[in-house]
Formats: sequence, C-alpha cells, structure tokens
Amino acid sequence: MTANSGKKGGAIGLVRAIYPGSFDPMTLGHLDIVQRASKLFDEVIMAVVGNPGKSPLLPVDVRKSLITEVVKDLKGVTVGEFQGLTVNYAKDNGVTILIRGLRAISDFEAELGMAQANKQLLPELETIFLMTKAEYSFISSSTVKEIARMGGDVSQFVPRTVNDHLKEHFSRGIYQQ
Ligand code: ADP
Repeated sequence: MTANSGKKGGAIGLVRAIYPGSFDPMTLGHLDIVQRASKLFDEVIMAVVGNPGKSPLLPVDVRKSLITEVVKDLKGVTVGEFQGLTVNYAKDNGVTILIRGLRAISDFEAELGMAQANKQLLPELETIFLMTKAEYSFISSSTVKEIARMGGDVSQFVPRTVNDHLKEHFSRGIYQQ
C-alpha cells in the first residue's frame, strides 16, 4: 500500500491497525475478522497477547507461528506479540485502530468496558468492532480446545494448519493435561 492508498478516504499516511487476542488457538472466526480488517486498513498487526494469569494451551511462539502460516498470503497483515497494555503497544508502534470481533451480546459488555478504558488511556486510539459472520458466531478458542482435548474433530472450526498442529500434538500427548 502506498501512502495515498485511499483506504483512509484519501488522507495522507498509512493506517495501522492492531487485532490483539490470545489466539489460543487461532480459529476460523479470527481468520474471518483479520481478512475483513485487511481490506479496511493498510496494515493489520495480529498481536498475540502473552499476559501471565491465563493458562494457555499453546505457548506464544507456537500461536505466533501458526498465525504467521495462516495469514502469509494476506496483504498488509503481520504478526506480533506483546505483554501488558494494548494502548502501550499501540503508542509504541504508531497504531491508531484497535480491532475486536463481536460474537454475541455476551461479548459486548466486556468489550465496551475495555474500549472505554482504552479511550481514556489513549484517546487517539479508535476501537472498531467487526461483527462475526453468523456461521462463526459460536466458535471460540475454548470450545476448540475442549473438543480437541477429547479427541474430537475441530477441522470445521480452525484453519487447516492449526488443525494439523492440534491433531499431531494431542495424539502425541504433548498438550494432554
Ligand atoms: P481475548 O482473550 O483477547 O478475548 P481471543 O483470542 O479469545 O482473545 O479473541 C480475540 C478477538 O477475537 C476478540 O475480539 C474476540 O471477540 C474475537 N473473536 C473470537 N472468536 C471469534 C469469532 N468466532 N468470530 C469473531 N470474532 C471472534
């Protein structure tokens, strides 16, 4: 994309967005959101949040490498990681748009609170919500993990790279807990 790419309605300068999440693991819902975001903004950083406190299934570097493989053909999409506040990452990396996906009303309350807090912390960062496609609205990383752990088939919920990884690692007992 060039500086006057037009995604910003003709204004000068690239629009850099961040799509942060745990992505533990990345699902087809996440993929749909990042594909759509990549059409709206010049750059989208899909950033794995590695905050301690949550006990993830996949290590951050595995989550990152799976995402990198899945988004490799998406123009303008890069993969990052950070710990701590999204607003700090945004400030340090010239990010002006924060993307979140919304599946249901149940997501809304927490997301609204987070968006409002972020607005207080960094007013120039704009949160944009993309609504999930109906067919992905029930997909969550937790559901995928639960099914995979029990030996179920998650191929309809996650990109093929992720499915292959989960199948291999669960069958070898690496993620059994
Ligand atoms: P977090 O721990 O930050 O919620 P997730 O990886 O669960 O991380 O989700 C990252 C973002 O993707 C969130 O905005 C979430 O609402 C959104 N998301 C998760 N699953 C879906 C889905 N199936 N469709 C659309 N958006 C989704």
